[in-house]
Amino acid sequence: MVVIGAGQAGLSAAHHLLKRGLDRDRLLVLDGADCPGGAWQHRWPTLTLSTVNGVHDLPGMAFQDVLEPGEDPSAVRAAEAIPRYFAEYERREGFAVRRPVTVRCVTEGFTVETDDGALSARAIVNATGTWERPFIPWYPGTFGGRQLHTRDYRGPDEFAGQRVLVVGGGISAVGHLDEISQVAATTWVTRTPPRFTDEPFTPEVGRAAVARVEERVRAGLPPGSVVSVTGLPWNPRYRAAQARGALDRLPMFAELTSAGARWPDGVTRSFDVILWATGFRSALDHLAPLRLRGPGGGITMTGRLATQVEGRPLLHLIGYGPSASTIGANRAGRAVAAELLAAL
Ligand SMILES: Cc1cc2nc3c(=O)[nH]c(=O)nc-3n(C[C@H](O)[C@H](O)[C@H](O)COP(=O)(O)OP(=O)(O)OC[C@H]3O[C@@H](n4cnc5c(N)ncnc54)[C@H](O)[C@@H]3O)c2cc1C
Repeated sequence: MVVIGAGQAGLSAAHHLLKRGLDRDRLLVLDGADCPGGAWQHRWPTLTLSTVNGVHDLPGMAFQDVLEPGEDPSAVRAAEAIPRYFAEYERREGFAVRRPVTVRCVTEGFTVETDDGALSARAIVNATGTWERPFIPWYPGTFGGRQLHTRDYRGPDEFAGQRVLVVGGGISAVGHLDEISQVAATTWVTRTPPRFTDEPFTPEVGRAAVARVEERVRAGLPPGSVVSVTGLPWNPRYRAAQARGALDRLPMFAELTSAGARWPDGVTRSFDVILWATGFRSALDHLAPLRLRGPGGGITMTGRLATQVEGRPLLHLIGYGPSASTIGANRAGRAVAAELLAAL
């Protein structure tokens, strides 16, 4: 059994597989990163545990366990604290994660080809997340200034005094605007008007968002955006950003120009930087030889929590679609272990 990826999803699956009796020496976890932590080790330095959405504990060990006495959990940097937690988790669970090992491709059988040689696997749990696949939409024209994606964002300081265009309607975009607008002139564009909400993010709201994404992947469609269902929850930081005018949003521009962008009404604006907070796609290129995508553009998923690729009981994707959150990854890990061990 090969688990590809040691983020929240891969670790959860490994935990539940062992808990349900899989022999330790039949489990191999491969991870492309140098260190434990999944994508969290790459998050920007200004993202703290008080500015993330909310990170759920891994199954069987509380995050609290890795805090130093007196350490304020909300003030610690996500990119430092969560990798520390994952490292301790791997140690306590006794996982032998092989890293850095990047899976280049998986072919029928299964043969798993890595940058460290090939191996065969009866069953695969793919848990490769999205961080390796930043998405930037195409627009006509060429911008002469600097462009970067959320993946490359390191905090606001480098933008001091500049004119920054932030593109995208998700939580990352709003977080960037909040930080950058305190040191620079920002402009915000989104495809559709952002939907801020005072509604608390209740379990029901979460379940509705997950159900919508689950319905899509069961129908073979690409997973789509969770924010379109949940909206952007107001908090004091966003209120302050709004009061500064940082959340005044413009519709999308029609084209890029060498100095900035042009809108459909002909108005042009100049910028030094364009920051694309336009999200990520699932990192599944290494599964291309299996030809999983159907005519709907997505992968048709089945099983209790829609983690199994339809028609392939020994291939599960977690952290994909409805399980692309820390809580979703936890639940999916449990479901995958039960279904895979039954199939084997
Ligand atoms: C900016 C940002 C903020 C977020 N904040 C939250 C939040 O607050 N709460 C929340 O629940 N969710 C949040 N999410 C979603 C979050 O990413 C997931 O919830 C969760 O952390 C993803 O876990 P994962 O295991 O699926 O993927 P990852 O953490 O990305 O782990 C995937 C692992 O697979 C490895 N890998 C990738 N490709 C290969 C390959 N080909 N071969 C071998 N290894 C490979 C990677 O190196 C990585 O270690 C956020 C996402 C982003 C982008």
